[in-house]
Amino acid sequence: MDYNKLADILFPDVTKAPADYDAVYPQRDLPPEAMVTRLGPSPTGFIHLGNLYGAFVDERLAHQSGGTFYLRIEDTDDKRYVEGAVKTIIDSLDFFDIHFDEGATLEGDKGAYGPYSQSERGEIYKCFVKDLVKKGFAYPCFMTEDEIAAVRQEQEANKLTPGIYGKYARCRDLSIEDVEANITAGKPYVIRLRSTGNHDLPPEKIRQIQVNDAIRGKLSMPENMQDIVILKTTGIPTYHFAHVIDDHFMRTTHVVRGEEWLSSLPIHIELFEKLGFEPPVYCHTAQLMKLDENGNKRKLSKRKDPELSLDYYKETGYHPAAVREYLLTILNSNYEEWRKDNPDVPADDFPFSLKKMSNSGALFDLDKLSDVSKDTLVKIPAPELYTFLLDWTKEFRPELTDMISDNQDMVTAALDIGRSGNKPRKDLVCASQMFDFISFFFDDFFEVKDELPEQVTPADCKEILARYLDTYDHADDQSAWFDKIRVIATDLGYAAKPKDYKKNPDDFKGHVGHVSTAVRLALTGKTQSPDIWEIQQILGEEKTRARVNAYAATM
Ligand code: GLU
Repeated sequence: MDYNKLADILFPDVTKAPADYDAVYPQRDLPPEAMVTRLGPSPTGFIHLGNLYGAFVDERLAHQSGGTFYLRIEDTDDKRYVEGAVKTIIDSLDFFDIHFDEGATLEGDKGAYGPYSQSERGEIYKCFVKDLVKKGFAYPCFMTEDEIAAVRQEQEANKLTPGIYGKYARCRDLSIEDVEANITAGKPYVIRLRSTGNHDLPPEKIRQIQVNDAIRGKLSMPENMQDIVILKTTGIPTYHFAHVIDDHFMRTTHVVRGEEWLSSLPIHIELFEKLGFEPPVYCHTAQLMKLDENGNKRKLSKRKDPELSLDYYKETGYHPAAVREYLLTILNSNYEEWRKDNPDVPADDFPFSLKKMSNSGALFDLDKLSDVSKDTLVKIPAPELYTFLLDWTKEFRPELTDMISDNQDMVTAALDIGRSGNKPRKDLVCASQMFDFISFFFDDFFEVKDELPEQVTPADCKEILARYLDTYDHADDQSAWFDKIRVIATDLGYAAKPKDYKKNPDDFKGHVGHVSTAVRLALTGKTQSPDIWEIQQILGEEKTRARVNAYAATM
């Protein structure tokens, strides 16, 4: 068979030679240890936690090593393309502080290794498919869907490995004349790899390929033997082929991708071999898992778990720094320990390592995220939290925006309550909860939700509040203020100290805490809240008196 002739029949328009692309996309001028990584999302409109998880690994590897991190849009599957999806990808990652050095941007491609959308790289793919045809490593296949289905049936009936290989690869050895006749007759065709994997051997004799995965260590897998499709009837490459060409010519050093790609690794290795390229270092990340209601680990699912979508975190108002912090705890097993030893340095100082990544399913847990978030937010200055909350309301609760922006000082102070001192309060979790937490400061949202403790009857409450107003001095400091509460408590038959009440419950109506709860309810509507004195300082004297009066009037 004259493969050169076959190649020219199939690709008459390819003008460039493979070597030309080496000149267009030279090796990158980077120090030897610098890593080049990429994110290759498909523009389906759904960007999920797995994307962010992978992007985070990519970003850390590249930026920690002085390398390059780029964005490639993998849009070869036009059925899945969704308008505006590229913007969604870029905006979502940007929100979580994941920035690319190069690649697709909303203003077009940036960088010398583009185009960065696979749909614009047809010429390059064709050149290399042609090259494989010339070398006898690829061929046109005219099998119809029905023929392929019949092959599958036959293989199933005989318990054989399914697929197009060996004698089932019916078009492997067509003559040039047959190919030309088929093309002239307008028969659609794909281009398949002519795999040199041996399909005649019993499983134990099949050649094993060795891959050193940077997360999983040495992998040994049976070589590929399938004549997989590399170019579809539409002339568009499959993921396998595009991956190999793009990561080679974009000079990717480390391919970070989900473990669902492990099973196709032998295909990719064979493609790299046949093309004469050096494969990158593969880093197959573990699936994101969660514990279900019964305590069993299962994969996060798009249908069942809203938290798989990145939008969930934006809408709920998780701070990007908290999400990043949390992702690090699931990405690297030694992160939490490092954080304990280095509480105040930026997370980017952590020496991220592929070796410390789990390869058996990364457990994702929203409660843990909230805990990490509390620890993260407590370190963010209140004015920054204010801006974060304001921006969040603009997008997700626009009806609140005016109120938040008209009361900047009050909201900032409210967010900062109890956060100074050595044991700062960690009340804040995310923007939606932050708003709930401070909403009682606004009269429109204030409402008494909780009940008086049983130790305080309505009549006692009325009396407590009346005396409270009589002695209230807005200029009192915290201890003068509390001394007055103690006096009210003892005057009305409550113990000045909780432990006295606990020791002799029959001697008192209750203790000072019950008395202050009456005041707390009047001011915040709840039995649990940060320090009352601090709240009063933010509310101001007028509002403080008004709320105490209003609550007393309900008794
Ligand atoms: N386009 C592929 C996906 O969205 C990317 C896989 C890869 O990173 O190689 O799953």
